[in-house]
Amino acid sequence: MNMNLNSNTNTAQALLEKQRHYYGTGATRSLEFRQAQLAKLRQAVTEREDAIMQALRLDLNRSEQESYMLEIGLVLKEISFVQKRLKRWMKPAKVNTALTHMGSKGYIVPEPLGTALIIAPWNYPFQLAMAPLVGAIAAGNTAVLKPSELSPAVSEVMSSLVQDTFDPSYIAVMEGGVEVSKELLDLPFDKIFFTGSVNVGKQVMAAAAKHLTPVTLELGGKSPAIVHHDANLKLAARRLAFGKFINAGQTCIAPDYALVHHSVLEEFLRQLRKSVTKFYGQNPLEHKDYGKIISERHFRRLAGFLREGEVVMGGGADEMALRIEPTVLTRVDWNMPVMQEEIFGPILPVLVYDELQEAIDQINARPKPLALYLFSENAAIQKRVTEAVPFGGGCINDTLMHLATPYLPFGGVGESGIGAYHGEYSFKTFSHMKSVLKQTTRFDFAFRYPSAKGGLSII
Ligand code: NAD
Repeated sequence: MNMNLNSNTNTAQALLEKQRHYYGTGATRSLEFRQAQLAKLRQAVTEREDAIMQALRLDLNRSEQESYMLEIGLVLKEISFVQKRLKRWMKPAKVNTALTHMGSKGYIVPEPLGTALIIAPWNYPFQLAMAPLVGAIAAGNTAVLKPSELSPAVSEVMSSLVQDTFDPSYIAVMEGGVEVSKELLDLPFDKIFFTGSVNVGKQVMAAAAKHLTPVTLELGGKSPAIVHHDANLKLAARRLAFGKFINAGQTCIAPDYALVHHSVLEEFLRQLRKSVTKFYGQNPLEHKDYGKIISERHFRRLAGFLREGEVVMGGGADEMALRIEPTVLTRVDWNMPVMQEEIFGPILPVLVYDELQEAIDQINARPKPLALYLFSENAAIQKRVTEAVPFGGGCINDTLMHLATPYLPFGGVGESGIGAYHGEYSFKTFSHMKSVLKQTTRFDFAFRYPSAKGGLSII
């Protein structure tokens, strides 16, 4: 059953053909099969918890607690959520009958799309590969998974997990970098689920267009956090520090920058410093569980930002350990590189505003963000901001937590992505909702046929 998958085109092509053939047998379709595979996946993950944690420590210096909370636990929760509801989701849904369709019945029948390609990034390398895989299995597809080459330890663990658990004609991992990704993207998969950067997302969509393959694109961008003058500043600072500095800021929905009302700036910064010290001690660069930057290239890019604006917290870096202190910059403007690209590191630029509308206008002058966070105690302000700003998803008075509930669809809008997943939305993302009209043969209406005289005569 185990297969050593090389990264040459023939193998990618052969793998797709093998999976297409297997899908064609209909084996993946029954509820029993899907439930059995989800149970196998659950067991395989549970058995390898230690190996997954060790790999996350190696790739990202992730602590065991965070690895469980953000990766393993989330995947296990997703599996059990799906297992409990799959039977209901798979049932054809009856719809109402229009007057013009009297006598007939309409159904929506969820159908698997076929063979799916899942391309994953390195920042939450396990969860962002496995959670889409849960959706692909639940919806009755076969799948090829391409992990990121920048998190090689996790890539290897996932590859062996999948090899030991599934036949490659059903689920397979192809490890490798951009070249492997491109080889796979050349092939006519039935679905592409991509998580990564906006630029690569555009290339994925262009490749998918050649075969008219449907895509889900989970991308990134600059997600803002607004701290209004009526916010609970202590909580706002703590939750913002949590969302920004976890995984050393390498989180797609991390608050990229903060817009803070000028009257609370000083107190907000004071609270932020307190929270960071509480989380990571006086010297975060030495803290055993503080995350590292994934590569030298990213480290240098981020270190460049430390020379912009004014550093009011942190600012230190350790090139050998690829670590950058939790840092706050003030006196930044939109022309600086740190405000032009997604930061994806532990650096928080803070801008101030006088009127809330200024904050809203600044956000809306830029591509629609993946996430938005608002800290305010006022329900009218909360309503105004959520209505006035388009964004993929977000939180009021928190950060990141909207991602961790399977009841909310997770995805972007505009430049931050296309489509959404988690829970039932994952099932739908990997399904085609087939419309079926079942017509009666007990009677027929004459008026619908050519040369009909009119009237409702029944024939
Ligand atoms: P990336 O786009 O560089 O890489 C993602 C995947 O695509 C990797 O598997 C990589 O091998 C592959 N790839 C890279 N270049 C390619 C190319 N030219 N053609 C085909 N495939 C290619 O992204 P990354 O650096 O791994 O991840 C960081 C980005 O991902 C950030 O922008 C972040 O915001 C975004 N992200 C989004 C989400 C989300 O759920 N929306 C989650 C995590 C990360």
